[in-house]
This record gives sequence, C-alpha cells and structure tokens, in this order.
Amino acid sequence: MINVTKTYLPPLEEYQAYLEKIWASGWVTNHGPHVLDLEAQLKSYLGVKYLRFVNNGTIALQLCLKSEQLNGEVITTPFSYVATTSSIKWEGCTPVFADIESGCLTLDPQKIEKLITSKTQAILATHVYGIPCDVEGIQKIADKHNLKVIYDAAHCFGTRYKGKSVLEYGDLSTLSFHATKLFHTVEGGAVVSRTAEKDHQISYLMNFGHQGPEAFQGVGINAKASELNAAMGLCLLPRVSNFIQKRKALSELYDSLLVNSKTKLIRPSIREGTDYNYSYYPIIFRSEEELLRVKTALNAKEIFPRRYFYPSLSSLPYVDHYSTPISNDISSRIMCLPLYVELANAEVEMIASIVLESL
Ligand SMILES: *Cc1c(COP(=O)(O)O)cnc(C)c1O
Repeated sequence: MINVTKTYLPPLEEYQAYLEKIWASGWVTNHGPHVLDLEAQLKSYLGVKYLRFVNNGTIALQLCLKSEQLNGEVITTPFSYVATTSSIKWEGCTPVFADIESGCLTLDPQKIEKLITSKTQAILATHVYGIPCDVEGIQKIADKHNLKVIYDAAHCFGTRYKGKSVLEYGDLSTLSFHATKLFHTVEGGAVVSRTAEKDHQISYLMNFGHQGPEAFQGVGINAKASELNAAMGLCLLPRVSNFIQKRKALSELYDSLLVNSKTKLIRPSIREGTDYNYSYYPIIFRSEEELLRVKTALNAKEIFPRRYFYPSLSSLPYVDHYSTPISNDISSRIMCLPLYVELANAEVEMIASIVLESL
C-alpha cells in the first residue's frame, strides 16, 4: 500500500537516547531543556528571530488570531486545509473568502480590496503547498487599510522567498509539525512573531496566561509541547536538508514522466524568487472526471493519492458563501500524488504509468 505520505521515523536507538535523558531528569513537559533546544535550533535553521514551539499547527493559528484580539471579519483563502477556516470561526471571527491566483493558487491581492468593510480586521492567507503568497501585494493592501497579516505557513518548512525565510513576512506566521508534514514532532507547530513584544505575548497566551507561578497577565490556554515531541524534532531537524533534496529528485522524476504537451497535465506555478521545499506533489487534471478516473485506477492498485484541497473552503456548511470560481475549479481537479522520503524511484515510475494509462 502506498499512501500520499508516510511519516519518517528516525532509527529507534536515536530517539531512545533522548528518552533516556528525559527519564533520568524526570522533566517531561513545561518548557523543558529539549523544547528550549529545539526552539533555538529551529530559529537558527529557519533564519527567524522569534519562534515558539506549540502542541499543534491549529492552536498556533488560534494563538495568532487571539493575540491580535480579532472579533470581526478576516479575509482568507478558500484553497487550504480546513484548519485555516475553522480556526477563524473557532475564535469567533467571520471568514470572508477572496479567490486565489490561477497560477500559484494563493490568495489573490487584487480580489481582497473589494471585500474590505468597516468590520475587516485581518488577512489570513496560506502559502499553499509551500508556494509563497504574493506577500508584497498583500502587505500593500494591509498597510493601506490598517489590517493585520497572518500567514498559515504549515506547508512552508524551510521555504525561502527573495533571500529570506518566508516566515519573515506579515505580522505573524504559523507552522505545523504534524506527522504528515515535511518536518514533524508527531504533533506540534510553531508561532513565528516579528517583534519581541508579540513573542512575549504568545509565550503567556500559550501557558494559561501565567506571569510567574502566582500572577496572570490575561486569559490563556495550554499550547505547550512536551519533551517527547521536542525529542522527535531534535532527531529529524539535522535530516531536513536531505529530506528536501530527496523530495526534489522524486518531484522532478514525476515531472519528467507526467508533465508534457501530450498529457496536458499541469503543475501549480512556483512564484519567482522562491527557494522551494517540495512539500507536496500536486498535479492539475483537465477535468474532475479525469481526476476521478485516475484516482480509481490508483486505488485499485492500493495507491492512495489525496484530493488536497477539496472541497473549496467557501463551500463549508458553517461559513457564508462567497463567489470563488477559480478555487472551486482548481479544487475539483487537483490531486496530490504520493511523495515522501522513503518512496522509491520505481514506485514513482509505477504510479506515473498508472496515471498515464488512465488519462
Ligand atoms: C496541517 C495543516 C494545519 C493544521 O496543523 P495541525 O498541526 O495538524 O494542527 C493548518 N493549516 C494547513 C494549511 C495545514 O496543512
């Protein structure tokens, strides 16, 4: 069986060596030494100044929305994982959907402005599949209308844009370290802030609002990550550059077999200036009917691609409807083929030949 992704697990002895240290100290959570070590190593690897390791990528989004005290309208993308939208609703805000760019599939700045009302407070955009948004275009509109900009960068581990980390754009960015992501801590995530003040605020929001053992700065929640999660991150971080190289090679192999004028299959565009991380292998079919035919043929051989991202989030049952024709169209005919470090070239060749046969 081949799934869309497979969690990379380090050699057991390596993880066990961390467990022995944790057992010896008895310190399993609450800002332990492995959490602090991982935070320091992540800041250095990613090239960011302020980062807090939290227990998942969804709570990272909630912390960002909470820290900006948002309660009105948030303009967002319909083309992302459901957590981008559900966290807006969960925090008591109203998602307003602007359509995406047809090439990069990220929130289109030109579609944002006409949706701005007196209730608009922020923009929450996703660097989908690790492709950076038009961060300059989005910032220009945000500055003009005094809006906060939050990026869901769950797919962006290691992505750089115009010479710096993509996490350095906007007011806040979030990462997910879920087991299905490029870099993982089983469950986990991070909030990247741009200022020391914001970073400090995140640090108390994620720890019940504690300011010392007996004082509270305000209302908070528990978003702390454990030493066991940090240990997994410490095992994997030194391997991430290799992960990205391997995924690049597999992606290029898929491209060479599938993407040409005969198949008419196309790939999302990677924005110019991007140092890409190859976090997924999305491919766009000519129609939903063709996609379903390919999916059925792959499933019959125990191969399970995923329809990331379907349905378009503007069709969720708990949001107001907005017209997002590009997102609706792309969602209906885009699919991610299996891509993970341990996938063999021969498996990519087999998957590609099944795709070609069923076009
Ligand atoms: C995975 C993902 C999330 C959620 O992260 P979790 O760590 O699973 O909570 C949010 N947004 C996007 C775009 C994701 O892909």
